[in-house]
Amino acid sequence: MENRLSTWALNISPSPTLAVDAKAKALKAAGKDVCGFGAGEPDFDTPQFIKDACVKALAEGKTKYIPAPGLLELRTALADYYIGKKGLKNIDFSNIIVSPGGKFSCYLAIMAAISPNDEVIIPAPYWVSYPEMVKLAGGKPVFVYAGDESDFKITPAILETALTEKTKMVILTSPSNPTGAVYTREELKAIVDFAAKHDIYILSDEIYESLVYDGVEAVSPASISEDAQSRVIITAGFSKSYAMTGWRLGTICAPDDIAKAVAKLQSQTCSNATTFAQYGALEAMKRPDLAKEALEKMLVAFDRRRLMFYNGLNSIKGISCRRPKGAFYVFPNISSFGMGSVDFCSKLLDEELVAVVPGSAFGSEPNIRFSYAVSEETIEKGLERLARFCSKL
Ligand SMILES: *Cc1c(COP(=O)(O)O)cnc(C)c1O
Repeated sequence: MENRLSTWALNISPSPTLAVDAKAKALKAAGKDVCGFGAGEPDFDTPQFIKDACVKALAEGKTKYIPAPGLLELRTALADYYIGKKGLKNIDFSNIIVSPGGKFSCYLAIMAAISPNDEVIIPAPYWVSYPEMVKLAGGKPVFVYAGDESDFKITPAILETALTEKTKMVILTSPSNPTGAVYTREELKAIVDFAAKHDIYILSDEIYESLVYDGVEAVSPASISEDAQSRVIITAGFSKSYAMTGWRLGTICAPDDIAKAVAKLQSQTCSNATTFAQYGALEAMKRPDLAKEALEKMLVAFDRRRLMFYNGLNSIKGISCRRPKGAFYVFPNISSFGMGSVDFCSKLLDEELVAVVPGSAFGSEPNIRFSYAVSEETIEKGLERLARFCSKL
C-alpha cells in the first residue's frame, strides 16, 4: 500500500502537554523526585454527591442508549443555567448538546461550521488542540499573537491583520489556558462587533468559566447582544469546574442551525455521552448549593497557590509573570535568559527535575506554563529549584 496513513493522520501532531506529563510520570515511576507542573486537571476528587447520583443511576439500570444530544433534563437544566446565570435569551434544551468531553465539544463545533479551505483565526498563546482540530476539518489555522505586554489579549486591530475573505471563525478562550487571562465585557464587545461586521463565528471555549479570582467575572460573548448570540458557539463542560475530567462530559450551547448540525455529527460518530455519567452531571446542576460549596473549596486552594506562584516567580531574577485571573496556570516570561522555551524546559527537567510545558507548544516562545493544580509543597519546592536553576544561567 502506498499511502497507508491518511492525510488527516499524517497532518496531526500529538498533544505536547500530555507528553510532558507522561515524561514526568515516567521519571517519577523510576523513583525520581520530580516536581510535575504539566497537569491540565484539578488535583481534587469529584464531589461525593455527584458520584452518589451516578452510582444510583447505575444501580437503577440507567445503562442504555439515550438520545444522542444528551439527557433531556440535563439539557434543560443547562439551558436554564445559560439563561439565568450567563444572560442568554430565548434558548431551550434544543440549543444544548452534551458531548463526551469539552475537547470533543470544540471538535464538533469546528466540524459543524468549518469547510475545507475556510480560515480560522486562532489567537496565540492558544490551547494546543485548536489548530489540529481545524486541520482535521480541512480548514486552515491562521495565527495572531498577543504576548505579555498586552496581557495575552487580542483586539479587533490585531484580528484585522489576519482577516481574509476566507475567514469563517475566531476562537476565544476566556479564562485562558495557558495564560489565565480573562476578557472583560468591554473587550469582548469590541471583538463581537468585529465578528458581526465581518460576519464570522466566535467559538467561545468557556471550560474554565467557574475558575476566576480577584473578583473578576467570566463573561460569555454570547450574552452581549442578540446578534452575538447568533454567531457565538459556546463550548464548556464539567471537567474543570466540578473536577470531573475522567467522566468525559462536555457541553455545547449554540444557535439552532449549529446545534442541529452538532447533534447530527455526534449521532454519527459517538452517539450519546455515557448515560449514567450524565445523571451525575444532572445532580451537579440540580444542587447548585452543594456544587458551590465544593467549588469554593477548590477556589480557595487554587487562589493561594496562584498567589504563591505569582509572587515567587516575580522574585526570581530574569523571570516576569503576569497576574493570571482565571483557570489554574501561570505563564511566566523567560526570554531574558536568551534561550528557547523548549531548551529551557528540557534543561530544567534534566538538571532540577522540574517538569513544565514550553510556551512554544502554545505558540508563545517567550513563555513557559506551570499548572498550579498541585500541592503547595510542590510549588514551594519547584520555585526553589527554579530559582537555583535560573541563578546558574
Ligand atoms: C481542559 C480543556 C478543555 C476540555 O477538557 P475535557 O477534559 O475534554 O472536558 C477544553 N479547552 C481547554 C482550553 C481546556 O484546557
